[in-house]
Amino acid sequence: MPETIYDIAIIGSGPAGYTAAIRAGQYGLKTALIEKDNVLGGTCLHVGCIPTKALLFNASFGTTSRSKGIRYRRCRRAQAELGGHPGAQVEDRDQAHQGSRFLMKKNKVETIRGYGKLTGPAQNGVLTVEVTAEGRATPLKAKNVILCTGSEARMLPGLEPGDQVLTNIEILSLKEIPKSLVIVGAGAVGVEFASIFRSFGSEVTLIEMLPRWFPIEDEEVSKELARAYRKRGIAFHTGAKVDKVEKSKSGVTVTFSVDGKPQKIETERILIAVGRKPRTDNIGWRKPRSSPTAASSRPTAGCRPPSPVSTLSETSCSELRNWPT
Ligand SMILES: Cc1cc2nc3c(=O)[nH]c(=O)nc-3n(C[C@H](O)[C@H](O)[C@H](O)COP(=O)(O)OP(=O)(O)OC[C@H]3O[C@@H](n4cnc5c(N)ncnc54)[C@H](O)[C@@H]3O)c2cc1C
Repeated sequence: MPETIYDIAIIGSGPAGYTAAIRAGQYGLKTALIEKDNVLGGTCLHVGCIPTKALLFNASFGTTSRSKGIRYRRCRRAQAELGGHPGAQVEDRDQAHQGSRFLMKKNKVETIRGYGKLTGPAQNGVLTVEVTAEGRATPLKAKNVILCTGSEARMLPGLEPGDQVLTNIEILSLKEIPKSLVIVGAGAVGVEFASIFRSFGSEVTLIEMLPRWFPIEDEEVSKELARAYRKRGIAFHTGAKVDKVEKSKSGVTVTFSVDGKPQKIETERILIAVGRKPRTDNIGWRKPRSSPTAASSRPTAGCRPPSPVSTLSETSCSELRNWPT
């Protein structure tokens, strides 16, 4: 049998990867979509935009009802389920995944389960991607490769996500709503979860290193948001640097300093929401020595590195320019 050479192989099936795959399929290109997880859809569908928006909507429904004096028992139960019942999520994941799978089939995109890694520069115009699944590596050949490996949550130095220390992934699998939650980082992810868990009844404290929270938005927006959150009983500290996070009997002790003065908070759980970093380690390309501050959350669509390897996702495009062609 002649070896299959794809026109395009796409590594990563998040919003960048699956939309690129659909478009390529529509153009009649022989397309492979490589995904390491069991489900297609990436961060957005499974542990990002979609579940958080569902939670936000549900949470705001409960908050609005309560503010009007309506006690809606079913709503509280739904909140509790959404806020922690793992079954609710699995169902959701599966549904979203089936939808993506159907779209791939419809557009004649071949989906391949496994971890994709470039093996080197193109040979006679053909790149090889090593796809590893269940310990077995298989070479896949393609004339073009798009890296859509996305990003993952940044951690504070010395911390690992787990039962008490959470990222956007672990927080969506909590079995119970925590009595108290400290959130480090008052960007989009931090303020969203603050709102959700406050509505669910947690005591929420936000800690932000910059002088104001929601720092990437206009000052008026952050002022208005701070006012609304204060009214809802969400505590926050700005200009505050987290120095230490230690496990304690009740959960976690967070030591932070404001203007050099140390303060401590005891909390059941802590969410680290200090930004995202591109998933570019171990995908087979060299990083430049002086890597610019990575792609973090800046989309890089439209960037054209001088090679058959390109990127569409939160993967850093600037780093790709050093890919040896
Ligand atoms: C809590 C949260 C809420 C958000 N809410 C919003 C929102 O409301 N609106 C919005 O626009 N954005 C939101 N975002 C951002 C959004 O999720 C991302 O911008 C989007 O998912 C980026 O898409 P992507 O395809 O670049 O990467 P991802 O969605 O991260 O997808 C990357 C995929 O690549 C796979 N992969 C990685 N490495 C490999 C490899 N070597 N081999 C095979 N597969 C690999 C991963 O498993 C993953 O499936 C939110 C993010 C978070 C964390």
